[in-house]
Amino acid sequence: MNILEKIREHAYLTPERTVMICGSRRLTWQQLWTWSDRLAAWIAAVEQDKAPVAVYGHKNPWMLVCFLACVKSGRAYCPIDISVPDERVKMILEALPSGIVLTTETLQFAADQETACGKRIIGCRDLEEIFQREDLEAPGADQWVKSDETYYIIFTSGSTGTPKGVQITADCLGHYLDWSVGLGTSPEQKAGQVFLNQAPFSFDLSVMDLYTCLACGGTLFCLEKQVQADYGRLLESLEVSEANVWVSTPSFADVCLSDPKFDQKLLPGLQVFLFCGETLGNRTARKLQERFPGAVVVNTYGPTESTVAVTDVLVTPELAAADHALPVGRTKPGTRIEIHDTDGKSVPEGEKGEIIIIGDTVSTGYYRQEELTKKAFFTVGESRAYHTGDEGYLRDGMLYYCGRIDLQIKLHGYRIELEDIENNIRRLPQISHAVVIPNQRGGKVSSLTAYVVLNEHARKLQEDCGIGLQTAESAVVQEKQFSSPGTGDLQSGAVSEKQSGGGYIPEDEKVMSARLKECLAAFLPSYMIPKKFVFLNQMPMTNNGKADRKLLGGKKA
Ligand code: AMP
Repeated sequence: MNILEKIREHAYLTPERTVMICGSRRLTWQQLWTWSDRLAAWIAAVEQDKAPVAVYGHKNPWMLVCFLACVKSGRAYCPIDISVPDERVKMILEALPSGIVLTTETLQFAADQETACGKRIIGCRDLEEIFQREDLEAPGADQWVKSDETYYIIFTSGSTGTPKGVQITADCLGHYLDWSVGLGTSPEQKAGQVFLNQAPFSFDLSVMDLYTCLACGGTLFCLEKQVQADYGRLLESLEVSEANVWVSTPSFADVCLSDPKFDQKLLPGLQVFLFCGETLGNRTARKLQERFPGAVVVNTYGPTESTVAVTDVLVTPELAAADHALPVGRTKPGTRIEIHDTDGKSVPEGEKGEIIIIGDTVSTGYYRQEELTKKAFFTVGESRAYHTGDEGYLRDGMLYYCGRIDLQIKLHGYRIELEDIENNIRRLPQISHAVVIPNQRGGKVSSLTAYVVLNEHARKLQEDCGIGLQTAESAVVQEKQFSSPGTGDLQSGAVSEKQSGGGYIPEDEKVMSARLKECLAAFLPSYMIPKKFVFLNQMPMTNNGKADRKLLGGKKA
């Protein structure tokens, strides 16, 4: 499908229908089409090169106008949410050569509010003015992003500590949408329905709700960050949404399920739950089936690098009741999955190996990162293929996901490279070494612990304060002892309090952890900041000189 043609069709047929609702802000299909035309013409006039354009902000209908304006002007867009910390925003802006950045929220670090990283800031006031300019002539379809050109770039966590930009072409998006409109319910049923948006636009899960909704001529109801953080408002908003199609991470559904009022009475029109991005637990699926008898539950799987998702399975009550983990589904048309061993050879059915995705939604690679692209992407015949780094197996064509083979994790639905956190912790002047270990609960990552070694100067200060440094062995024993089920995740300092007389001064350790967390907030989004810091006298090493993650409770590097 050509999504821009589809959107034009809907804007023509239902101009007055609302396409997007974010809090009190609404946008009609007509406004979306006309304003994005005008902004596209303006961009084409001020920008010489067709470089990708960053769009910074949160859930604001104007974000969508900006996205479409970029692609109508023949440029890819790169969404950046306000939850991305300044240092990362700067890295992304510096990676993109365009001369402008479109914003619907204030870029705090831009001192003059005129430029950011050498780019001209086009803020809400400018946008409003451009939207009203009738003299700006709509670009023809021949100027739109072409099928093999990049439509959007989404930056994800990168193991070097620098985010990497996944390039998705218009064709990838079109092939994905040909399939996603039929997930759970038919495209006819989805026509004109209300889709719920939970994920920020800088996460590719949002493509599932945003673009499937646009393809179906629906209305996107956005749950803003502050609404998601406020329980009372969240349920109220859900009720007001009258959503028919639910798209979220399973973690978000778990949050909602903890309130007994979250059921079909709250959302009588809900017909389908679409999940992606992390493991959907049997229990979550069962609870949803109990509380929403009128809705079906669909599990989908895929990475940003292959346009949101490539497999799906309808979770029947029988599947949810089984004592094995839920499968992640069968491949969509145009995609093939192979399971490879460590030599890159296909393994027989039922055997575990790396999940390889081959097909028409695989990205063209990481933006201006040739080396990284070569490592992760390859071709099979004419098709692009991607090494997911996920472990899984196939049985009767059904894919089962078994976790990661590297150091990437999912925490509350967010994709995180542990090395990304570690590299950023090492940027702190107090730290000489850091290893981050995920803590598991109920088969999922529930929090992160950073094991750190302080540099000499900080160590001296620490010792002067009387904070004891632990050996790796004793730290691990304590972690196990106090993190056993029932005690919950330990906040920094909790170990120390229980260790009275053990040489710890809880308050000081707390202060040190709090200080490190504060410093880290400049480089990392809050969900990537470890909950707990453990101070080691030295990092345990394996025989080949790598940090011994296994000893600290994690996987081998
Ligand atoms: P992202 O690029 O943020 O969508 O993250 C992609 C990764 O999330 C995949 O490589 C998997 O490790 C994980 N993932 C995606 N979908 C599922 C699923 N249905 N079940 C378990 N893990 C998933």
